[in-house]
Amino acid sequence: MCATTSIERALVRAESVHKSYGDLEVLRGVDLEVHRGEVVCLLGPSGSGKSTFLRCINHLEQVNSGRVWVGDEVIGYRQQGNQLHELNERAIARQRRRIGMVFQKFNLFPHMTALDNVMDAPVGVKRVPRGEARERAMSLLTRVGLADKADAYPRQLSGGQQQRIAIARALAMEPDLMLFDEPTSALDPELVGEVLDVMKDLARSGLTMIVVTHEIAFAREVADRVAFMDGGEVLEIGPPSEVLVTPRHPRTRSFLARVL
Ligand code: ADP
Ligand code: MG
Repeated sequence: MCATTSIERALVRAESVHKSYGDLEVLRGVDLEVHRGEVVCLLGPSGSGKSTFLRCINHLEQVNSGRVWVGDEVIGYRQQGNQLHELNERAIARQRRRIGMVFQKFNLFPHMTALDNVMDAPVGVKRVPRGEARERAMSLLTRVGLADKADAYPRQLSGGQQQRIAIARALAMEPDLMLFDEPTSALDPELVGEVLDVMKDLARSGLTMIVVTHEIAFAREVADRVAFMDGGEVLEIGPPSEVLVTPRHPRTRSFLARVL
């Protein structure tokens, strides 16, 4: 969390992002800027396009029109003067390395220990020497409070522990940006807090985060700004003290009335 100035260039800039699946228009011109070090929580009813939007940011989906920039790069494209050229898979994979993603489901490799899950991408993708990768993975496991579970397999861990490992695994690639898609929605209620605590710690450390969540208390405490999405558009965005307390849009109001 930090104060940002409008002069500073946004780390993420989505401009008029449109995405359809066949006849179904899921994103109808999404605009969003996220500054370096900022935490933006994305709220909205089920089916409003939140996951699709996150997937467009890291090019798991290709947009139909509009653009997403992360830093100076247009996601999925190479810019040459005013011209955009589509990138090949390799170049897209390189862009994606700068973006960590944590899903509702933990997606750990079941046949690998916690430590190996965290080391896997740095060693396999970034060619970090094993010793160095192990040291860094251990410090990330310590950071998420699971150093003592380094040798455990995912099936031996609770959902909350698995999600904390998944966060450590995403951090191991040293991303500029972290995307969280309802990271606590699949957890038993008593395990939600430990995952949110890890995310709060990351937010405090200055990591840039976009978090899709229904945890309004988390958004109120941690978000620099809250965006409300409905029907494939961002209808309202602002500080939590405004959007969550005195929402301007009637649809934000009725959504909050339902979840609070
Ligand atoms: P949210 O995350 O806000 O619940 P989603 O982005 O998952 O919303 O979905 C928005 C809409 O797009 C929904 O109607 C969903 O059924 C549809 N959708 C999402 N992914 C696909 C897909 N791969 N193919 C077809 N429709 C999809
Ligand atoms: Mg979703």
